[in-house]
Amino acid sequence: MEPYYDKVERVIGVSGEYTKYEHAEPRSSKKYAYPKLQEHPVVELIDKACKELDYISYKVPRAIISQKKNARNACYYSNYCGSYACSSGAKGSSRAALIQSALETNNITIIPNAFVFKLLTNKDKKIQKALYYTKEKIKKSVEAKLFVLAAQAVESSRLLLNSKNSDFPNGLANSSGEVGKNMLFTGGGQGSAEIDTSLLNKDKLFQTGFFVNRGLQDWYFTKEFKGGTIDFLFEHANPIRRALRLKSDDNGNLLFGEELQDKIYKNFTKSRVLNFEIFTDWMPNDDCFVSIDENYKDKYGVPVATIRIGAHPQDVKVGNFLAQKAIDVLKQMGTKDIQSNISPLPSANLQAGGCRFGDDPKKSVLNKYCQSHYIKNLFVTDGSFMPTGGSVPYTWTIYANSFRVAEYIKKSDLI
Ligand code: SF4
Repeated sequence: MEPYYDKVERVIGVSGEYTKYEHAEPRSSKKYAYPKLQEHPVVELIDKACKELDYISYKVPRAIISQKKNARNACYYSNYCGSYACSSGAKGSSRAALIQSALETNNITIIPNAFVFKLLTNKDKKIQKALYYTKEKIKKSVEAKLFVLAAQAVESSRLLLNSKNSDFPNGLANSSGEVGKNMLFTGGGQGSAEIDTSLLNKDKLFQTGFFVNRGLQDWYFTKEFKGGTIDFLFEHANPIRRALRLKSDDNGNLLFGEELQDKIYKNFTKSRVLNFEIFTDWMPNDDCFVSIDENYKDKYGVPVATIRIGAHPQDVKVGNFLAQKAIDVLKQMGTKDIQSNISPLPSANLQAGGCRFGDDPKKSVLNKYCQSHYIKNLFVTDGSFMPTGGSVPYTWTIYANSFRVAEYIKKSDLI
């Protein structure tokens, strides 16, 4: 996979500075494609605390370009990456990094607002058509020689299960019964602490935009168990989101008038909240899967995915272990009001699994090229293929694997 991760760094654009540490991934190049993004002065405090604790504060690379790349402008540090579109094109979304230039070739057609609800197979047991609804709920279809499914893990499994027919009574590509099984999310949780001007002077503390490019992976593996990643970041820049968090007192009662104003004023002018996020390796298990319940349908009348989220107790154990390490760092920095919340409930956006790949068609859905064992013109290239997810967000690997699969398809006789 390494050459494909390298390709992601060049094509999608990854900015960073290499840190040597025990669990760093093997790399053919010690440099990232783009220089590191500008860092917030709080990194001085994090680095110092980690050094005193003998932890390695590694510099987190980001899929954001720090320099202009063709039609994409460099990051201008709005700090609105999370949950918002990026107006400069710096953020490594597939829209900015891939689709825009693909459109310029005139070789692709995008059908916007098309909801694919079923894949039809022909007598050769290959997929022939994708049926979809337009925004106006008009049924249409597209035919193709080859289909690549990438609807994010839950929806990919849902589509395959909803496409069952007499040749594939359990759903497409599901002869093993594994479609929808072993769903993965990102285990862990988060925490926070307050930093005030006794730790960093006002100019430095309230500097906006620059990134807290710091994380810890000292416990990515321990002698006893698989650990994970700790990532530090400031609270989201959106002031409404910040103010909303302050709406209640310690007993959960809504605040009004001067009391609310004072609390918001103090929060916005005297201190900042530094968060940490924990990423652990979600343990695949039989209690975590996607299935279809014919009783529940979406606005098109298509059965929705029923998601069973059964977290393994080990996920919470590892999350608490890592949270304690993050708390050690925050205490060493001298921050106040340290809190953490490790939960068996994952965030909704980081999904993988459900069509795991493998060599044995009885135990997996896809072969090593993410091609269905049984339907040769079907590939699945979102995070569904992952048997385990690693203790990091999945996106980089999804991109790298997609480049690998695309190369295989191009060399094959399928197109
Ligand atoms: S900080 Fe703003 S400009 Fe930079 S990548 Fe994020 S959204 Fe785009």
